[in-house]
Amino acid sequence: MNFDKLYQILKEQPKYRVTQVKEAVFQKMIDNWTQATNLPKALQESLNAECPLEIDGQILLAKNGHTTKALLTLDDGLKIETVLMSHKDGRHTVCVSSQVGCSLGCKFCATGKLGLSRNLEYSEIIDQVLFFARYLKKQNSRVSNIVFMGMGEPFLNYDNVIKAIKYFNETDALNIGARRISISTSGIIPGIEKLAQENFQVNLAISLHAPNDKLRSELMRINKRFPLHELLSAVDKYIQKTGRKVMFEYLMIKGVNDTLKHAEELSHLMLKPLHMVNLIPYNPTGVYLPSDQYTINQFKAYLGKAGVEASQRYTFGQDIDAACGQLANKVKSK
Ligand code: SF4
Repeated sequence: MNFDKLYQILKEQPKYRVTQVKEAVFQKMIDNWTQATNLPKALQESLNAECPLEIDGQILLAKNGHTTKALLTLDDGLKIETVLMSHKDGRHTVCVSSQVGCSLGCKFCATGKLGLSRNLEYSEIIDQVLFFARYLKKQNSRVSNIVFMGMGEPFLNYDNVIKAIKYFNETDALNIGARRISISTSGIIPGIEKLAQENFQVNLAISLHAPNDKLRSELMRINKRFPLHELLSAVDKYIQKTGRKVMFEYLMIKGVNDTLKHAEELSHLMLKPLHMVNLIPYNPTGVYLPSDQYTINQFKAYLGKAGVEASQRYTFGQDIDAACGQLANKVKSK
């Protein structure tokens, strides 16, 4: 839905209409303006014509029953992917895309192979969450967490991402606590610096994936622009300013970054307050293979012994290509 157009139309209406509309869209989760029965008929009709609420999405369910991927078609016909991960403890996390494709071409990532088509508008980012919020509403449930870990680099579409987060967070919109919203970046330093200045408590995650510049530049060419020491010093400043913990994501790729020598190098970088490592079993996308569980356990144990806080992320949805680094918009790539 085009929120700019919506507010343009509401400008000519009494002020209380904004409250009525927000309640209808974000709490009642209506998908057609005729369901907003407290609005005058003429307004319902003009909103249906100018700002239709329909979100064009196709759903896929993973075999494990916990992962649901949606392929959304945007107004210009481009397609993006969004994933819902349902946890055993009742949380429902939506993994949103911030761009159509991605320009950064990380070697292990399916999205990176597509190149960038365009940035998403903030309304298109909100629609991804609304799509699953409506889906969950039918099951008497709601979205509890949001992660920007889908297609694209969120800090290369900073303004739209922040604007969307404000809607996720506002009590009269989706009312999702900032601490339940995470932005994952490949290491765009200006984005980290800007986020440190924002007045909200969203979580920051850094896709690290390698403990030295040589290997990181091989895997992620963005490292040539923002090398490790500059990135880590930006994170230090972020922590000083916000006092918030930062999560470093580390894909475990067989024979590439998963030896104990790598763990040792990583421990030297991470042995600082409020630094935490999250090991992610790699989801094969054709170039590399995943580390086996024994290797991951050894790697994690090494970090633990060195005094680094480390966890391992459960992998959702490999069978529907909904896992980290697999969002590649099969329709487009075909
Ligand atoms: S890992 Fe993230 S930043 Fe890198 S290519 Fe994929 S989507 Fe882009």
